Amino acid sequence: MELQHQDDLKHAVAALATRNADALDRLVWTGVFAAGALRDQARGAVLDQARSAGIYPASIHDLYAARGRGEVAPTFTVPAINIRGMAYDTARALFRARKALDAGAVICEIARSEIAYTDQRPAEYAFVVIGAALREGWKGPVFIQGDHFQINAKKYGADAAGAAAEMKAVQDLTAEAIRAGFYNIDVDTSTLVDLSKSGHEAQQALNGGLCAGLTAFIRARQPKGVTVSVGGEIGEVGGKNSTPEELEAFMTVFTAALREAAPGAEGISKISVQTGTSHGGVPLPDGSIAEVKIDFDALERCSTLARGTYGMAGAVQHGASTLPAALFDRFPKLGACEIHLATEFQNMIYDHPAFPADLKRAIYEKLRTAAADERKPSDTDEQFFYKTRKKALGMFKREMWGLAGPARAAIGATLEEKFTFLLDKLAVRGTRALADRWAPFVAGSFPSIGAAAGADGRAHEDVTGLSD
Ligand SMILES: [Zn+2]
Repeated sequence: MELQHQDDLKHAVAALATRNADALDRLVWTGVFAAGALRDQARGAVLDQARSAGIYPASIHDLYAARGRGEVAPTFTVPAINIRGMAYDTARALFRARKALDAGAVICEIARSEIAYTDQRPAEYAFVVIGAALREGWKGPVFIQGDHFQINAKKYGADAAGAAAEMKAVQDLTAEAIRAGFYNIDVDTSTLVDLSKSGHEAQQALNGGLCAGLTAFIRARQPKGVTVSVGGEIGEVGGKNSTPEELEAFMTVFTAALREAAPGAEGISKISVQTGTSHGGVPLPDGSIAEVKIDFDALERCSTLARGTYGMAGAVQHGASTLPAALFDRFPKLGACEIHLATEFQNMIYDHPAFPADLKRAIYEKLRTAAADERKPSDTDEQFFYKTRKKALGMFKREMWGLAGPARAAIGATLEEKFTFLLDKLAVRGTRALADRWAPFVAGSFPSIGAAAGADGRAHEDVTGLSD
């Protein structure tokens, strides 16, 4: 599928200008799977075309701030979709659903861990999302987010050198992501909350202080005219449920630390809380997902406090994609500002009747050895593969992008249906005008590609234990 020679590339670029869909598909492939100059030229051509079509990466900060001031009603919950496997087809399905519902308040995101195991550096991810928007005739702001830019507590706690190296890894990734057009970053230092200390402020001290430091780091690097939307997190997802008192303690620490690190700098726009869910859900021995009890009360109280006292958009719900369908319309009613959705889309791809059985077998065979160290003695095969198959998305990226046309179309249609359902329940239908109004194009903010965005040659990062 990808173009092999300069001549072919030139022809495709010429055809792209006449909105030739096949040429666009081949250029996106080339921008992902080719190397060197060919790859960079393909990326450049697609991004140029997207820019002239009125598509641009943007920050949701101003929309969230308007919601915090009460100028935008808190009646919708922004879905943040983690696009992992078959990224182009998945993103295309999302933009089709968005277009049909006129849904502007939607985020595409990828976590530090996912960047590694799905083999998608920020520049590639932004390129594929923008390419998909162009393919589906989208126009206007595209919110691309770094999710769980998380500190590994074990590495941070090892010693002073370990702490410095871990901070630098997150800073480097953040800088790389901003260069690629990620104007929304979820800082996650919640792994460093220390519940053994007495008093909420002491528990949140390291979390709030480091989050402020990373916020200052982001403010110093964001493009002129753009306020990157920064999210904080007060309780590690999968851990103890959050409370409004913890939110207050976090904000006290964070605000003081930010004032010191970057006087006058804009703070965070939202806060992630723990409500009882866990990333990916908990698979039972037969592979089905255990039901969870969500602390809706905590979510609502933290959202109200975040808006009323701190001018944020509200609280953010994680680990939500595998929840029962009947729950989704509760999130907008409770004032939750954002919800993170990931694993279910990956489940839908792997378990789709059109997904080739022989490829799935090959993937599972590979996982038996490649992910053997993650196997608990008590795991059934169903539990083991459910938990580890995300790790195969990078190893089998080319095979999954390269499924036969009818299989890709069938999977894309199923994803589109699911996205449509979720966007509707989360009440973001008709939010396009809001997004356009609060996230207009900022001259000079369109990311440059190639060497400047670069860093695709980075060594593979060990992300064991990090959230997604
Ligand atoms: Zn999450």
